Amino acid sequence: MARYVQKFGGTSVGSIERIRAVADKVAGFRAAGHDIVVVLSAMSGETNRLVALGNEISPRPDPREMDVLQASGEQVTIALLAMALKDRGHPARSYLGHQVPIVTNDAHMRARVERIDTERLAADLSAGVVPVIAGFQGVDPGGDVTTLGRGGSDTTAVAVAVALGVDECQIYTDVDGVYTADPRIVENAARLASVTFEEMLELASLGSKVLHPRSVEFAGKYGVSLRVLSSFEDGPGTLITTEEHKMENPVVAGIAYSRDEAKITMVGVPDVPGVASKILGPIGIANIDVDMIVQNVGADGLTDFTFTVKRSDYEQAKELLESVRTSLGARQLTGDNKIVKVSVVGVGMRSHAGVAKTMFDALAAESINIQMISTSEIKISVVIAERYLELGVRAIHSAFGLSTEPRAE
Ligand code: ADP
Ligand code: ASP
Ligand code: MG
Repeated sequence: MARYVQKFGGTSVGSIERIRAVADKVAGFRAAGHDIVVVLSAMSGETNRLVALGNEISPRPDPREMDVLQASGEQVTIALLAMALKDRGHPARSYLGHQVPIVTNDAHMRARVERIDTERLAADLSAGVVPVIAGFQGVDPGGDVTTLGRGGSDTTAVAVAVALGVDECQIYTDVDGVYTADPRIVENAARLASVTFEEMLELASLGSKVLHPRSVEFAGKYGVSLRVLSSFEDGPGTLITTEEHKMENPVVAGIAYSRDEAKITMVGVPDVPGVASKILGPIGIANIDVDMIVQNVGADGLTDFTFTVKRSDYEQAKELLESVRTSLGARQLTGDNKIVKVSVVGVGMRSHAGVAKTMFDALAAESINIQMISTSEIKISVVIAERYLELGVRAIHSAFGLSTEPRAE
C-alpha cells in the first residue's frame, strides 16, 4: 500500500464526463488499498475566463480581488469530484485553500506557500476519506485568499506531498509525460523516461508549462518523487529525479520556448559608467522582471542597450523609459513584442562542447536570425522573431537528434 498525491489538470477535469473518469481512476487506486490525496485545477479555460472578466471590469484589476475571483474556478471542480467519489462508495471531502489551511505569504497572484497544516488531511486519511484539495490557492496570515500564479496547482500538489511525506506526487495531465519538446509543436518529440530536477526546473522556467517551475523547485529541494502522467491513458509517464538515478544522459534533454517575451532597446546612449543602472532602476522599482540583457560595444562614445521583459510588462516598461531616454540624451527608444525565446537544456552540456554551434547552425540553415543569446551551465537561450517559433524549435530539435524517428540526412 502506498500513499500518493494525485493532481489533475484543467483538461483532465474539463467536463462532467472527465470528472467522472477522474473519480473512476481515484476509486481504482483506493480499491487497490492506496491512500490518495487529490489536488485539482479549475476546468480548462475557466481561469482564463475569470481573468478576462477581471480585465474587462477594470483596467488595472486589484490583485486581492483578482485572487478571490480566480480562486473560484477550483471550488467548482473539487466539489464535483468529491460528490462523484462519494457516489462510488468512497468517502471524500473537498477543501478550499483556507480550510486545509495552505498558508502563503501575502503576495497576491504570485504567493508562495509557507506552511501546510496536515491535521485534517491526516485525520481524513486514517479514516479512509479522500481529501480533494483546491489547487492554486491559499490563505495569507491575514486570512485573505491568495493564488500561486498561473499553473500553480502543480505547486500545491508538491507542497501537500512534502507536508504529508507521501511516496510519490503524480501530476496527471493531457500528455503522457515530459517530452523532448512541446508535442503540440514538434510532432515527433519523444517522451523522456526520466529527467533531472535541475533540467526540469530549467525547462519549466524557460516556458515548458507541463510543470509549474516552483513545483519542481520544491520537489527537488525536499526530495519528493515527482511523476508526470496522462490522465487519459495508462503508462509509466516521466519521473523527475536526481542525476544519479537517471538512466541515460544525453547532452540535450529538451527544448523549451516562451512566447511571453518582449524586448526594449535604448539606442545611442552614452557609453559611460552607471547607464545600465539608470535604465534598469525604474524598471526594478516598478517590479518588472528583466530577463536577458545585452549591451553592445560602444562606438563614438555611444552604445545600444537591449533587454527583455514579459509581454504583459512591455507597454509599462516603455512608458517608464521615455523619461529616462530624455534625461540620458539617448537617441531613440525602440521595442518589439513579437519575439520569442527558444532554449536548449541539458546537464550533459557541462561536459560537452559544441552545443551552441549545433543550435546556431540549425537556425542559420533555416535563415532564422538570432537577436539575442544568453547561456548558463546547462542551457542556451536565443531570442528570435515570433513568426519563426515553430520552424526554429523543430529545426533545433532535429539537429540534436531528439526525434523519435530516424533523422533525415
Ligand atoms: P494541465 O492543465 O494538466 O496542468 P498544462 O496545459 O498546464 O496542463 O500542461 C500540459 C501541456 O504542456 C501539454 O499539453 C503540452 O502542450 C505542454 N508542454 C510544453 N512543453 C512540454 C514538454 N516538454 N513536454 C510535455 N508537454 C509540454
Ligand atoms: N487553474 C489555474 C490556472 O489555470 C491553476 C492551474 O491550472 O494550475 O492557471
Ligand atoms: Mg498546468
